[in-house]
Amino acid sequence: REILVCGDTGCASSGSIKVLEALQDEIKKAGLEDVAKVELTGCFGFCAVGPIVKVYPDNVFYVHLSPEDAKEIVESHIKNNVVVERLLFEEPSLDNLRVNNEKDMSFYKKQEKIALRNLGVIHPERLEEYLANDGYLGLGKALNEMTPEQVVDEVKTSGLRGRGGAGFPTGVKWEASAKNPPVNGRKFVVCNADEGDPGAFMDRSLLEGDPHNVLEAMAICGYAIGSDIGYIYIRAEYPRVIERLKIAIAAAEEAGLLGENIMGSGFNFKLELKYGAGAFVCGEGTALMHSIEGKRGEPRMKTFSSSKHGLWNAPTCLNNVETFGNVPAIITKGSDWFTSYGTEDSKGTKVFALGGKINNVGLVEVPMGTTLREIVYEIGGGILHDKEFKAVQTGGPSGGCISTKDLDTPIDYKSLASIGSMMGSGGMLVLDETDCMVEIARFFLDFSVEESCGKCTPCRIGTKRLYELLNKICEGKGCEQDLVDLKDLALTVKNTALCGLGKCAPNPVLSTMDCFYDEYVAHVKDHK
Ligand code: SF4
Repeated sequence: REILVCGDTGCASSGSIKVLEALQDEIKKAGLEDVAKVELTGCFGFCAVGPIVKVYPDNVFYVHLSPEDAKEIVESHIKNNVVVERLLFEEPSLDNLRVNNEKDMSFYKKQEKIALRNLGVIHPERLEEYLANDGYLGLGKALNEMTPEQVVDEVKTSGLRGRGGAGFPTGVKWEASAKNPPVNGRKFVVCNADEGDPGAFMDRSLLEGDPHNVLEAMAICGYAIGSDIGYIYIRAEYPRVIERLKIAIAAAEEAGLLGENIMGSGFNFKLELKYGAGAFVCGEGTALMHSIEGKRGEPRMKTFSSSKHGLWNAPTCLNNVETFGNVPAIITKGSDWFTSYGTEDSKGTKVFALGGKINNVGLVEVPMGTTLREIVYEIGGGILHDKEFKAVQTGGPSGGCISTKDLDTPIDYKSLASIGSMMGSGGMLVLDETDCMVEIARFFLDFSVEESCGKCTPCRIGTKRLYELLNKICEGKGCEQDLVDLKDLALTVKNTALCGLGKCAPNPVLSTMDCFYDEYVAHVKDHK
């Protein structure tokens, strides 16, 4: 048997590493080392019930564990084949019946895992486990059976779009980077792992639980566009990810899966880590590239796309973690398989970090086209303490809110745009009837003011003035004219700021004014 313990930051912070050690101790004390192995794995997704342990091949899923439970699991389950009922999940949709297989849980039933397929399955620090789960098959197939053009075509045909928020077609980006000639003999592949939205942890979990997936994807991208070097721009605040990436890169190099003459193909690809120092703006493409170049992390006017003039002015293919996370499976299984998931406009799946006033906080991956109602009420288990749903804030400080009237809107790029919201990178903050939407807008504006790099006036001054207006309104000191000014200024900042941070910073104001204008009016109604 294998006993897998979630070692993701979420479960680790609620004590999973102590659970792992206790299980190892008990297995040793019982002399069962030949019968069962206790191993670390990536995030199972259901963070609300952590620490989580899964026993293979029985598929038994234990929740809310503490080190004191280890003895009973070993004695009862491992030694005597009797599942420990009291440690199973109580499924609300089945009248709180205790279920032992995650497939019977509402949280997992509607999920499809492509980018997260290895989380909760493999040990993130063991290359052999990644290899045993089709790891590096995509790279092998690309190098041995496909031309770079065919790889680009496969990604194009898959319909994969950037998962970082903008939704630009990935294959089109790869094609442009492939066609543009190198500068000083160089082209670059860059992975944007500078996840900075409050409440977002998709990229962290993916890299912590399955680092080779992203390394393999970047090597495939390098082969497709003609680059021999890639950078992963990772937040220095993610020490566990950095450690896992270092281990994974060293193992892949040693196995001849990265570095020179990969798999004897003659293709060379080297990967380096670059650390971000915590500035949210460095998640913006041009600022990120400045930062890698050793310059101040400020955006620039986008007169050229980075696929033509990116890092050190050379063609650069920049994708985010989740986008890369889909690539090896697309190349291994083919674009037809990938397009069988999702909608006409948006293929595949999307990962969301589900948080806020919801029962099942966690990391979820659903096919595009799943409705918000399914995510909130089935996967998410409904609103905490049976309160009324009010809205979901998607995409953090750059995103917008989706209110009750749009609960049945399929989540895909086109549908979300049609209701004035956006996919964003995947943060989903669920709000209930007690939340004040003006306060929510103020919270996100506060973040944007703090993170503005100050390079352009509309963002540097405009977001500050927006924040001041929101403060005045929240404190009950605003008047109706303030609401007019608020909207006017929000639109001005949106239309004139230099980069995505400033352009999107007013979104929480505009979308909450759009859906919950009555709350703004209620704040100012007694003041002239
Ligand atoms: Fe900097 Fe804001 Fe201007 Fe972007 S919009 S360049 S973050 S000041």
